[in-house]
Amino acid sequence: MGSKKENTDSNNARRRLLPAIILVVLIAAVIFAVSDAPFIKNARDSVFQKLGYEAIDQSGNSEGDGTGTSGAGNSSENGGAKNSDWDSAADIDPAALPEYNGQHYVNVNSGVPVFPDDVYERAGLVKDGNSWKNKGNLMGTVDSHKLTPYEYYGELDDRGRCTVAYGLLGEETMPQDGQERGDISSVHPSGWAKAQNWERCHLIAWALSAENANPSNLVTGTHYLNYDGMRPLEEEVEHYIWNTGYHVLYYVKPWFMGDELVPRGVQMVARSVEDKGDGISFNVYCFNVTPGAEIDYKSGIVTTEEQAAQDARVYVINTRSGVFHYPTCDGVKEMSEHNKKTVTATRSELTSQGYTPCGYCEP
Ligand SMILES: [Zn+2]
Repeated sequence: MGSKKENTDSNNARRRLLPAIILVVLIAAVIFAVSDAPFIKNARDSVFQKLGYEAIDQSGNSEGDGTGTSGAGNSSENGGAKNSDWDSAADIDPAALPEYNGQHYVNVNSGVPVFPDDVYERAGLVKDGNSWKNKGNLMGTVDSHKLTPYEYYGELDDRGRCTVAYGLLGEETMPQDGQERGDISSVHPSGWAKAQNWERCHLIAWALSAENANPSNLVTGTHYLNYDGMRPLEEEVEHYIWNTGYHVLYYVKPWFMGDELVPRGVQMVARSVEDKGDGISFNVYCFNVTPGAEIDYKSGIVTTEEQAAQDARVYVINTRSGVFHYPTCDGVKEMSEHNKKTVTATRSELTSQGYTPCGYCEP
């Protein structure tokens, strides 16, 4: 009898203890799930990583797997353009924009995308330490249905120049079936000069945004920038969205030097959201140039090599050797006065008369 009573007491004690244990475990689980204490957060991240979940890392790096590289940095499908890092800085210095070096674009921040917080926040993502996730999603995963596709176009600045365009792009922002491209010829972006072969260059492409004559989205660009620099990257994003139905954070900024009206280049930053950059991940600066042409970025006047050769200007001919120079050439200083002949002519006039350009000053 005595032992039976003891068993009953023990059962009663266990019945009282069990809810207490469950409560303690629940409290511990909640603390583990939401605490920002570093050691708990690290433990949580490591558990989620083991479970296959990852938060979006703000730095653009996909934590844990190192596969988050694609797109511009190592893409070979961009017309054979070679892309190397622009090594000097992680971000673009407006006072020292990258110099054109024969490539369509150069990587910024080693090609790793970085966005202002607003780009994430408008998409419905909330900051979680160094990462971004759907609101209320403790697991840090991204649910397509909880994202907010959007487009944002910055106002023109006081010189009428485009500032920035960004958004969360997806099928929702793209042209709908049968939607026709509108006329954009009414827009004259800053620096636009007639008969210079300029193109109205979308910051966010029509195929991604369905934006037509939006002055905040069109800059004065060369065919080389529009067609060779930006288009392959835009197509990469477009095809990705069609193939996956996923979304891409996208940020495009024209870079002007000082008060100039034509941008020197356009920065394009993109990262796919649901797969954490596995599909799309780039950060590049595309050059607004035409190889071989000289561009006045203040006036929008473009001078091609052929045109430059047609312009009459002052040359100094050495009548003894038949070589012609720019007046500033050292060869002119060394020339004896009686061989020196100063003329105003076009380059092609001189060459057709049998004179040869100096190999040093290359007139
Ligand atoms: Zn010379």
